Amino acid sequence: MRSHLLLPLLLTPTLSLSPPHSKRSLTDPHWTYTGSTGSLLWHTLSPTFSTCATGQHQSPIDLTAQTGTVLDNASERVVQLSYPPCADFRCKNDGHTVECLPVDEGAMVMRVGEQGGKEYHLTEFHWHTPSEHLVAGRYYPLEVHFVHASGPADDPSTQFAVFGIFFDITPTAAGTSDFIQQLLPTSFGRLPVPGKGLATLGEPGVEIGMKNLRIGDIPAHLASAPKLHTYAGSLTTPPCTEGISWFVVDAPMRVGLEGYRGLKSVLGFNARFTQNTPGGRNLVELVRSAGEGRERRRRRN
Ligand SMILES: [Zn+2]
Repeated sequence: MRSHLLLPLLLTPTLSLSPPHSKRSLTDPHWTYTGSTGSLLWHTLSPTFSTCATGQHQSPIDLTAQTGTVLDNASERVVQLSYPPCADFRCKNDGHTVECLPVDEGAMVMRVGEQGGKEYHLTEFHWHTPSEHLVAGRYYPLEVHFVHASGPADDPSTQFAVFGIFFDITPTAAGTSDFIQQLLPTSFGRLPVPGKGLATLGEPGVEIGMKNLRIGDIPAHLASAPKLHTYAGSLTTPPCTEGISWFVVDAPMRVGLEGYRGLKSVLGFNARFTQNTPGGRNLVELVRSAGEGRERRRRRN
């Protein structure tokens, strides 16, 4: 385990960033997770995506004591979430994920560090199936990212911190977290809006309101988690901008099998491949230089 005294180092980058997902430009080139516009080739789709193939602090990664800092969350309490029990959101299928934006952006706060620490506010949360991060080589069926900003999106000094939670599948809905249960197509009668929850968001561009979404589970899960992984990484989507502070809870929350199937039918496959250890060469660049080396040897022989 490494000391949380390293945290200030993780939080020092001050970069002008495009915020994850929510402010994506409508003129961004079309990109996907598979095929010729998939994550291996994002850098070929636009000059503004070049960091995806050259950055040396890219996300997601395999979380271990060697790739980041593992915090003893039970005793150190470096990260605190101040979320109200319920809040209103607008959830939209943006063609890559479903993202949910709080109606009141200032209502949900994340504090990082000691003595009050640095303050961020929740700008949106979104979903990945399967998980993007691994924990010691193991993946989970679902990962939710809660994206927080230290200031306004258009302020160049604004920093971003993302809080990640894994979900594992349980055979029945009984163990499903309250947070996710109310969003699932199988939770009729408990939904904050009439309809079928996230199942209504199967087509890109569709948007629904989620009133009184119970988000109290999320800070409660953090408070009870024994370990928290943290490292300095990037957006996991184009333009793969670096300088993002990542905090990922080691222990998963639960989602029932039926509910998970409903989520998966909306989200499809939307996880970027595992990146190199932070500080190491970008994997796309490594593959390219290895191929060029083989070609040079072939020509010599
Ligand atoms: Zn994400």
